[in-house]
Amino acid sequence: MTDADGNTTVIEADFSRPSESRFTLRRTHFCRHLPCEIDENARTVTCTLCGAVLDPFAVLVQIAVGQRTVRNYEREAAALVEKINGLKAEVKRAKAAKRRAEGNP
Ligand SMILES: [Zn+2]
Repeated sequence: MTDADGNTTVIEADFSRPSESRFTLRRTHFCRHLPCEIDENARTVTCTLCGAVLDPFAVLVQIAVGQRTVRNYEREAAALVEKINGLKAEVKRAKAAKRRAEGNP
């Protein structure tokens, strides 16, 4: 379970230990390190959530991958909208064909 500060509670199990000490709760910090703050003078990137100093190239890669994913979702959404419009036109044609078959133009 992760809280708003990015702290995660992990349950560790060690089945080689006696049952009363088999499980341990451990708090860890997980952060995706975005958003981040860029110091152009110092040429550093710092996570604004956890304060970690980050590798600027790793941040660049993370942003690029995220943008690629957004573009993929946009393409998928456009294709689905096109498919929906095609299905709507097909329904309209089928209803018109039904009306003609029933003698109602
Ligand atoms: Zn962070």
